[in-house]
Amino acid sequence: MPSVASRAGPAKAGPFFVRFTGRHGFGAALRLNHPAPAQYNSAMPDKYSTLKSVFGYDAFRLGQEEVIDALLSGRDALVVMPTGAGKSLCYQIPALLMDGVSIIVSPLISLMKDQVQALCESDVAAAFINSSLSYDEYLRTRRRAAAGGYKIIYIAPERLSREDGACSWLEGLDVSLVVIDEAHCVSHWGHDFRTSYMRIAPFIRSLPRRPVVATFTATATERVKADIEAALSLENPFCITTGFDRPNLYFAIEKPDNKMRSLKKHLARLKNRSGIVYCLTRRYVEDVCEELTANGIAATRYHAGLSPDERRENQDDFIYDRKPIMIATNAFGMGIDKSNVSFVIHYNMPKNIESYYQEAGRAGRDGGSAECILLYSYEDVKTNEFLIEKSVEESGSAELKEYNLELLKRMTFYATGTDCLRGRLLAYFGESPPNYCGACSNCMTQFESVDITIEAQKIISCVYRLKQRGRRLGKMMIIQILRGSRSAKIINEKLDGLSVWGIMKDTSEPAIRGVIDFLVLNGYLALSGGDYPLLIETEKSGAVIFEKKPLDMMLPKEEAALKTVASTAAAPAEAALFTKLKALRAELAAAARVPAYIIFADATLNAMCRKLPRTKAAFLEIPGVGAVKAEKYCEPFIRVVCEYIAENASS
Ligand code: ADP
Ligand code: ZN
Repeated sequence: MPSVASRAGPAKAGPFFVRFTGRHGFGAALRLNHPAPAQYNSAMPDKYSTLKSVFGYDAFRLGQEEVIDALLSGRDALVVMPTGAGKSLCYQIPALLMDGVSIIVSPLISLMKDQVQALCESDVAAAFINSSLSYDEYLRTRRRAAAGGYKIIYIAPERLSREDGACSWLEGLDVSLVVIDEAHCVSHWGHDFRTSYMRIAPFIRSLPRRPVVATFTATATERVKADIEAALSLENPFCITTGFDRPNLYFAIEKPDNKMRSLKKHLARLKNRSGIVYCLTRRYVEDVCEELTANGIAATRYHAGLSPDERRENQDDFIYDRKPIMIATNAFGMGIDKSNVSFVIHYNMPKNIESYYQEAGRAGRDGGSAECILLYSYEDVKTNEFLIEKSVEESGSAELKEYNLELLKRMTFYATGTDCLRGRLLAYFGESPPNYCGACSNCMTQFESVDITIEAQKIISCVYRLKQRGRRLGKMMIIQILRGSRSAKIINEKLDGLSVWGIMKDTSEPAIRGVIDFLVLNGYLALSGGDYPLLIETEKSGAVIFEKKPLDMMLPKEEAALKTVASTAAAPAEAALFTKLKALRAELAAAARVPAYIIFADATLNAMCRKLPRTKAAFLEIPGVGAVKAEKYCEPFIRVVCEYIAENASS
């Protein structure tokens, strides 16, 4: 049975709202098209006002605005952005600003439900169509859609089949934009090919007017990108790949003697937070979950060996914060859009860095600080080798086996190295990050702050001395002078007569190079352009040699001293107020029958704690508060803030 539902937030009175109750019991408020909702047409709203009024944000994140502009100008797009980067906004804003309806194809039922709930919370007319809905609901949504009652419809790819009859009614709609989420599923070279994605291209062709086609994915190699472009016949698409860094994630690796003890220690430290514990096998999931629940920890489990009913139930327990800890294999997580996951612990090392980064990346999607901890042991390498062997026996491809073993080697290299973890991850994805991030366990334990004031003075003095002689030299020559080289060039140019010649003869060449790089990076020196860049002084140089400004630099420690992981998860600005706001949010969420984070993300509550809004205008300034939500929730939240301020003033 095909089915559908229209999702929505609390019911509203008024002539332009139609109320009905969906299968899950959420009250549904649908805004019909006559007259058109003010936020779409009146006074020509633009992307900025929509960003603020509907989503409550002041600024676009990296890449979002470019994608929105491309789509609004009628161009197709191929967007590769890491999980949590904010892909949804990239198509939701154009969908709201364009005429007609936008169709979002997504393979992920839970994600659809989430997104539609969130949109309806902001009074955007949205619905989804997938197998979780009854036939009645499906017909109801079709009727609304035909009457132009939606701006956004999420649909599962299975529903695009002609035999299903679902397609023909969609053909009758005024579709301006078709969005394909998880677009790598269309490629055989992607890690998750789905046959249902083969239905998308014929569907697009069947529409009376070719819509703008936007494709989104979190991971895609060049080969997969080419596949997506061809399979969906994108026309001169705007292509964008944004950076992979997730600055709010703290990365840690531990090699504990006893993983269970270490896990419990972390869970005790992370009490009251929601997180995922990934295990390599079903067996591990069972064991870990059993041990934790026996210890009174509210944990649930997920793996492919459970019945579909149990999987759904456990997933909901986790999403609705009834059980804040999820123990799972890699079968769990695709499409889980729970924004308040504040840690991901890997009980075992995964088989490759792609999987690791994707799973770890499920933490901190609301932008708040979150932790990703990998508990490594050598047995994990062995288990992975065994699993690779086994899967190869099934597929029979020796080439694939070599490939997977190579990926495993790189994962192991990551888990056992001593350099910056973020640096390693980003380098793996082809970026060139700095060698020290300051927010990973290796940076915290394998690096130390070194006073380089004297070294910096010597190097900058050398640049000044040369300048007095009217000379500019490159990094290599400066190092040679400082180390007292007698190369032909130095003798010929009489550079050995400089007072700075040989003043760093006891410092190694890489060490001097490292300090020079640091000085350039921090603006105490600069490099001229050209094929042979020359070192030149800057306006900050004088402070170092004349005012003896002290300088510290982070350097890898000679001796590795592993310390325990320090929590970087910032405590909410006002813990007591945060607790109160959370309680209020839980109440409102229960009343609206949506997960708590749909009302406001933790990051939004935290901002309220910091800014203590007492007026509606101040409330609107909080990131994550849009016009509709301000209207709905301003009053109770401000009341709690005012009470809190009053209590603290009198005590
Ligand atoms: P993705 O689909 O790329 O994994 P989402 O679209 O789910 O990511 O967005 C992740 C989170 O970031 C959401 O909580 C979303 O509200 C938030 N977000 C998106 N864009 C912005 C922005 N411009 N400013 C602040 N937060 C944003
Ligand atoms: Zn680091």
